[in-house]
Amino acid sequence: DNAQPKKPAWIRVRAPGGQGYQDTHRIIREHGLATVCEEAGCPNVGECWAHGHATMMIMGEICTRGCTFCNVATGRPDALDPFEPGRVAEAVARLGLRHVVITSVDRDDLDDGGAEHFAQTIRATRHRAPGTTIEVLTPDFLKCPASALETVVAAKPDVFNHNLETVPGLYPEVRPGARYFQSLRLLQRVKEIDPGMFTKSGIMVGLGEDRQAVLQVMDDLRAANVDFLTIGQYLQPTPKHHAVARFVTPEEFAAYEKAAYGKGFLMVSATPLTRSSYHAGEDFVRLRAA
Ligand code: SF4
Ligand code: SF4
Repeated sequence: DNAQPKKPAWIRVRAPGGQGYQDTHRIIREHGLATVCEEAGCPNVGECWAHGHATMMIMGEICTRGCTFCNVATGRPDALDPFEPGRVAEAVARLGLRHVVITSVDRDDLDDGGAEHFAQTIRATRHRAPGTTIEVLTPDFLKCPASALETVVAAKPDVFNHNLETVPGLYPEVRPGARYFQSLRLLQRVKEIDPGMFTKSGIMVGLGEDRQAVLQVMDDLRAANVDFLTIGQYLQPTPKHHAVARFVTPEEFAAYEKAAYGKGFLMVSATPLTRSSYHAGEDFVRLRAA
């Protein structure tokens, strides 16, 4: 059966609203864009949008993969929209973001996995909003030639993020179609291609992993020279999705954060409501100022 552990008091989500939220909503609509904030049913949407922070999702709203934690529809995606990079750039400028996260669905249907489209979006955003730092959160480019990753790195995002999502033992049930070591290798290659670029990854906990496996993921990421780490509680988007195995306590999160800093990550966010893009801007701006 699909009985779920009861949501604890520390998973508190503020209802979206307020002027900042409305403005963000309107600008995103006007530019015909999609956000992960909405697609993933992110619990932080009220807070983030009120602060003018959003994560843009490019290359359509239909994904060629079917990860069991993810609320994005699986199927045959639409053709790429050549005007999308310009619309993203324009929206970022109008939202006045200090830091933008640009992510996408997985496009196994495209030869380059959408790498060139990513690169165009980075370049257009850089041009239109030169003061905004840019973080990309990319697919794994599993079926693409090596040049796909090089194309994205060459467009010079400030932060290159690719999520491992979970411990390797849970890949078959949580992230079918992906390969743990392929994702690690991708992060390692980003650093090899451009040693000055910050790399970042994240996992969700509460999917059934044990603590030892989480610590091993940290070691694997550090061995791949990954700089930033996020760890957050998995929340089930609908009853059809992977069940929540348990709610990790705030104390356990704090212990993960401490362990991660001990292993040498430059920046760590590990709290129940941490998401890959949560407070990414504030953290990054703080780090650059340090
Ligand atoms: Fe959007 Fe990320 Fe904030 Fe969630 S944490 S609302 S996905 S920007
Ligand atoms: Fe969701 Fe990304 Fe998996 Fe696609 S590849 S189903 S967008 S998590």
